[in-house]
Amino acid sequence: MISPFDEDKPRDECGIFGIYGHPDAAYLTYLGLYALQHRGQESAGIVTSDREKVYYHHGMGLVVNVFDDEMLAKLEGDIAIGHNRYSTAGSSTLQNAQPLVREIVGDILGIAHNGNLVNAPYLRRELENKGAIFTSSSDTEVIAHLIARSGQIFIEDRVLDALTQVRGAYSILFMTRNGMIAARDPWGFRPLWMGRLKDAVVFSSETCAFDVIDAEPEREIEPGEMIIVTPNRIRSVKFASEKHAFCIFEYIYLSRPDSVVFGEIVNQPRRRFGMQLAREHPAEADIVIPVPDSANIAALGYAQESGIPFEFGFYRNQYVGRTFIQPTQTSREKMVNIKLNPIRDVVSGKRVVVVDDSIMRGTSSRRIVKILRRGGAKEVHFRISSPPNMFPCFYGIDTPTRQELIASSHTVEEIRKYIRADSLGYLSVEGMLGCVKNPDEFCTACFNGRYPVEFMGQNIQQLSLEFTRGRKR
Ligand code: SF4
Ligand code: MG
Repeated sequence: MISPFDEDKPRDECGIFGIYGHPDAAYLTYLGLYALQHRGQESAGIVTSDREKVYYHHGMGLVVNVFDDEMLAKLEGDIAIGHNRYSTAGSSTLQNAQPLVREIVGDILGIAHNGNLVNAPYLRRELENKGAIFTSSSDTEVIAHLIARSGQIFIEDRVLDALTQVRGAYSILFMTRNGMIAARDPWGFRPLWMGRLKDAVVFSSETCAFDVIDAEPEREIEPGEMIIVTPNRIRSVKFASEKHAFCIFEYIYLSRPDSVVFGEIVNQPRRRFGMQLAREHPAEADIVIPVPDSANIAALGYAQESGIPFEFGFYRNQYVGRTFIQPTQTSREKMVNIKLNPIRDVVSGKRVVVVDDSIMRGTSSRRIVKILRRGGAKEVHFRISSPPNMFPCFYGIDTPTRQELIASSHTVEEIRKYIRADSLGYLSVEGMLGCVKNPDEFCTACFNGRYPVEFMGQNIQQLSLEFTRGRKR
């Protein structure tokens, strides 16, 4: 979800959507991407196939700005994949926009990838040493090269070959002239769903995209599973098995509350985080307000559990954010000027509990406290519906570096002082895990540094940092 203070939020790199066997493939993909817009706002792209020719369009910006009627009409065929991007690995340029389209052994291959590969820089160097030429800085292109260089004959075997060499996070769709492959990494970091729309097969990062097109969600693709769709049949191949590491940030912040992700409708764990937060960090207060919109549900949970009335204490300008979503330093600084206005009759003279989903650098939390005080709040009790964010993510969420994460070098009390709140409370890791089904299947590395994917020991962090940050700006 985009909030006016998004510069301080972790962001997922993308939403992916695919459809196989529907005459309106491009338009339905457009709608699917529209529903997944919250997962990435930098660029959007759709590639389609009429089983002979492949058609492609992508551009920078929101889905609604990239495509129009005329453009969609040109995307012919009954097979399509689409992608919304927020750049993590690779810079924010059109060159890196997805789906990636490559000609490979006489076929055209479209790739839409959500996640981040931790060994991509290493594989890239290896491939470059063997003469591979890269045209983008995206880690997804590594997969394309691995597929091109595979000794296998069939495309699904080539894909399998590539996927067993990469490590890290991927929920990914491949499209050829006549087929589609969907796969999820063995840890299952990012969500990926399969559904049906009459005879067509559909894939989506989140189920909210199925609702929009009236498709029936069938099931989540399993970690380490590949689904191969060809004209005659659908096959499932289990290609690897690892201890699951679902990204808990999907529940905290990233996924839409109306989506089903990792077996639960996101609204539920998100609300339970707020309830647990109220139990762990009660406050003597008059009202509970969210930082809109991403913390709305956690704040509801807090209010429900504490019995303190829920109110909307901010007016959030829905329209300003869109022009400020480029993740460059300049635009981040400009964001400071975006208005999140206190609703004075709500907060004035009140002891306010304000709930947010996370604190990264702390700058926006500090601003929120300031805005509330300006609105006349008597006391500001800051509550965070996730644990202190101390470690960067290497699996596709664009968190700041370790040095920039305020909780990596400051105690809760020091952060409280910095943001100038009267009190500050974070949800505990145990408390958070107590709110989800199958807690040992979740990744919590950004809170405790226990990274689920090892690659060359310590080097994994350096390599990934170099790749995700170094090429970025
Ligand atoms: Fe998600 Fe954090 Fe793990 Fe990254 S490190 S995958 S944000 S839980
Ligand atoms: Mg924040």
